[in-house]
Amino acid sequence: MGAPITIFRLFRLQPCGRELLVRVERPAASNADQGALDGADRFANVAAEGLLDQWQRHLRPACAHPHTSSVVAEMQEDPVGDDLFGPGRRALAVWVAQTEYGAPWTVLGTAASEAEFWQQVRLDDDLLRLGPLAPAEPHEVDFLTDTDLSPLTLP
Ligand SMILES: [Zn+2]
Repeated sequence: MGAPITIFRLFRLQPCGRELLVRVERPAASNADQGALDGADRFANVAAEGLLDQWQRHLRPACAHPHTSSVVAEMQEDPVGDDLFGPGRRALAVWVAQTEYGAPWTVLGTAASEAEFWQQVRLDDDLLRLGPLAPAEPHEVDFLTDTDLSPLTLP
């Protein structure tokens, strides 16, 4: 049985450039069962898309123009800092570093400075295995988690 995976996914809206970071749980699924793995992926994707829809509805009064969205970063490891383990529904400043595996794979997290971010990354073998590349870029994001899904958008 594969363990559940915590997924961090960063969406960017165009044309305004607003960004939403979501944390969703991909349920455990048997590695020997492709159907179960696909189902677990679908479950996580539906939750992430549900949060994106919910956030866009919330933005509408201030940001009424039509948006297109894209995934600009994703990480399936524990991030730097404690903030992203905590509750959602808040604005956060996060550092995002590209990796040698290419887009959208990134290493991200919260830290007081870029130097502190890299200090934390260097102490974490799981993050180093992702092949992070300097520099890390600062992003101002809205943060939501799957526990913030309104009943209307629950998968
Ligand atoms: Zn907008």
